[in-house]
Amino acid sequence: VSRLLAPGGPDAVAVVLVGDELLLGAVADTNGAWLARTLTGSGLRVVDVEVAPDDEQRIAAAVRRVAGLARTVVVSGGIGPTSDDVTRAALARACGCALVRDDDAGRQISEWFTSHGRSVPEPALRMAERPACAAMVVNPHGSAPGVRLDLAGTTVYAVPGVPAELRSMVRSVVLPAILAGVGATVRTASTSLEVVLLGESAVARRLAAVEADIDTDPTAELAYLARPAHVSVRLSVRREPPDQAQARLDDLVVRAEAALGADVMGRDGVSLPAVVLRLLVEAEQTVSVAESLTGGGVAEALTSVPGASAAVRGGVVAYTGEVKSALLDVSPGLLAAHGAVHPEVAAQMARGVRRRIGADWGVATTGVAGPDSADGQPPGTVHVAVDGPQTRRVRTLNLPGDRVRIRTLAVAHALDLLRRSVAGLPEPGNARESETRQGR
Ligand code: ATP
Ligand code: MG
Repeated sequence: VSRLLAPGGPDAVAVVLVGDELLLGAVADTNGAWLARTLTGSGLRVVDVEVAPDDEQRIAAAVRRVAGLARTVVVSGGIGPTSDDVTRAALARACGCALVRDDDAGRQISEWFTSHGRSVPEPALRMAERPACAAMVVNPHGSAPGVRLDLAGTTVYAVPGVPAELRSMVRSVVLPAILAGVGATVRTASTSLEVVLLGESAVARRLAAVEADIDTDPTAELAYLARPAHVSVRLSVRREPPDQAQARLDDLVVRAEAALGADVMGRDGVSLPAVVLRLLVEAEQTVSVAESLTGGGVAEALTSVPGASAAVRGGVVAYTGEVKSALLDVSPGLLAAHGAVHPEVAAQMARGVRRRIGADWGVATTGVAGPDSADGQPPGTVHVAVDGPQTRRVRTLNLPGDRVRIRTLAVAHALDLLRRSVAGLPEPGNARESETRQGR
């Protein structure tokens, strides 16, 4: 799977995360994930991530080990002033040189405290220490400077563990230096396709031809990341020169998108509500929401997107039949005859909320979230509907899982039905659905 993450090469980076708290579970690592995302997003490859306790020997051993795998090592944490901050000493040990006091750094640390209106605490001057063979790295957002040194051809950076300080030092100093060192030769070009409401194996089946091609190409790779109601397909190409990598990637992306069709909602991490909102804003149209089993989940998803007020008019949580009739004009006769879990109820809710609130589109959900049956229907029976300009669609579903999963999937289906309706895309072939177009 991870051919492109093989060690070696000028673009290979390894990360060492330092801190007892990470091994105790007291802090959940975010620095490693942020570094991996940021470096990968710049076309570099993170080929190893290790965690080490606040122990000089263990940190030194981890750094020496990963230095054999990568041209650059980033060590996060343990460069502060307290006695448990031993990363500087560990780096001195790793390269076999003494720990010395850096006069410039000493002065800068003193100035930092003075300019923040504080006297210089004695332990702070420990932060001015560095291995004799190392250079200091300026910390734009804190007092602890970073350290840079060479270990048998591998450049090692020690950066702060405080996430905000790590990010600013990596962005301003470390990343530009790594990219300058790699030059314009090897970079990994990658794109992810965001696939909505299609299972991982169904996605893989559609991509069989693309996968077969990639299998015979050592410069290309495909990876799946499954999330609730959503699979990310990541396509990557690592070649020299980079424009050839990009051209090969573009070809793979076009073919993968063709194979996946309207089930691809977008690229590079977009979310379903964000896609729906963008479509509405582009069309200068508005939406209102009527929800039964999702209890506001559709409205919550849409309004969580920045700028939602440009398209979202409002909504009604209509949990009882009375509210469905009184506020959404669902026919009492229909409810009496069939109960609330019925495709026509969903359709009338969508039409009702659209008319009552005065939006271009109405979207509605009704169904059984469980754990018990309701209206004679088993949990997972769900109808979502959309009513809009010349469009009326209902999607009938038999959703798997517990109450939480059924509600999550129902929200995703309602948003996906709206997405396809606004974009004029067909319904998926495997869903049980009915579509009618009507003049209005
Ligand atoms: P300081 O000057 O604050 O001592 P430092 O470089 O010595 O900085 P640490 O002491 O290792 O860094 O950690 C400082 C803070 O950053 C702590 O609150 C710690 O929980 C947090 N932190 C350290 N490593 C990580 C990580 N991998 N992910 C998220 N937070 C982290
Ligand atoms: Mg510390």
